[in-house]
Amino acid sequence: MLGFFSDYYLPIFVVLLFSLSHPCFPARNIPDQVTVITAESDVHNATWHDFTRFIDAEKGSHVNGMSELKKYLQSFGYLPSTTANYTNSTDDSFDTQLESAIILYQTKLGLPVTGKLDSYTISNIMSPRCGVADDPASAPPHGNATLISTTRHYAYFYGKPRWVRTSPMTLSYAFTPNAMIKYLTPTDVRTVFRRAFSRWSAVIPVNFTETGEYLMADIKIGFYRGDHGDGEPFDGVLGVLAHAFSPENGRFHLDAAETWTVDFKGEKSKSAIDLESVATHEIGHLLGLGHSSVKEAVMYPSLSPRTKKVDLKMDDVEGVQALYGSNPNFKFSSLLESENSYNQSLSSTTSKLSNSPFFFSLIVFILLTI
Ligand SMILES: [Zn+2]
Ligand SMILES: [Zn+2]
Repeated sequence: MLGFFSDYYLPIFVVLLFSLSHPCFPARNIPDQVTVITAESDVHNATWHDFTRFIDAEKGSHVNGMSELKKYLQSFGYLPSTTANYTNSTDDSFDTQLESAIILYQTKLGLPVTGKLDSYTISNIMSPRCGVADDPASAPPHGNATLISTTRHYAYFYGKPRWVRTSPMTLSYAFTPNAMIKYLTPTDVRTVFRRAFSRWSAVIPVNFTETGEYLMADIKIGFYRGDHGDGEPFDGVLGVLAHAFSPENGRFHLDAAETWTVDFKGEKSKSAIDLESVATHEIGHLLGLGHSSVKEAVMYPSLSPRTKKVDLKMDDVEGVQALYGSNPNFKFSSLLESENSYNQSLSSTTSKLSNSPFFFSLIVFILLTI
């Protein structure tokens, strides 16, 4: 009986059991953020390391240190920054305003909207990110999956500023003398930035050229530590990685405390940050883009250590082209092709991941029936 059951019905039964217990996620909603906590648990992140203790906190909770989380939400635009507008800003209470701020944060970052400090939300908050504040007002509406998938997710700075130059537009950039990092060669840094600028110039009619005349450069790039005079001090390892100013300011600052790398093969640090990914993201700000809610987009605000994310996605391209128009040589069809292959590879990764617990369930079930 057992032999007959194992041979014929067991696989069917296990498949049914597994398909009932294993939810199906669309490719774009893989909850990969939870892994961030594990990946960073042994990386010293002085800034936001303690936020794991807030997991599962919700309205009505009172957890020591919650005021630090309120400061985080204030600094990225989710809570009023003055006590006049938010009287509980310095205490540890989880009040209605904090709940609203978390709902805004979850909506803007494309997370499940729960209003609670669930593990996805805490992981995202602890993930290293860009220092430019988000614009919660530009968050897509939540609660309607169809609407979200067809809504624009890119955003602009207030007033929608952009560079205005005679056509064809060329913007010059220069590296700030005495504000470079020693462990990367100038050639490597220049190559990375040239590639990052070229990704944007491939989609809009704007050229970028490096200049030796630093004072005259439109865009000024440098690595700085802590307080560096612009009112936006850097915070040490991880936390905030870099920031750039909206048009036509041109300042682009990177936190010198990070372990910047141009090649993960040669840099083993668990907190290594890919310079090209951050450069590509910050150039988006220099051009006038704000943060996007699309996780795959270059303009999404956070970036995990040892992650490379340099290819512009449809959301990035549509956003920047709405400001500058399209490069005549750019073809949407090639971008669509690459996005489709990206989604397919994500989908195949999902199905590979789905297969492992299936085989695990099968083995466990067989062991139980022996
Ligand atoms: Zn940013
Ligand atoms: Zn700065």
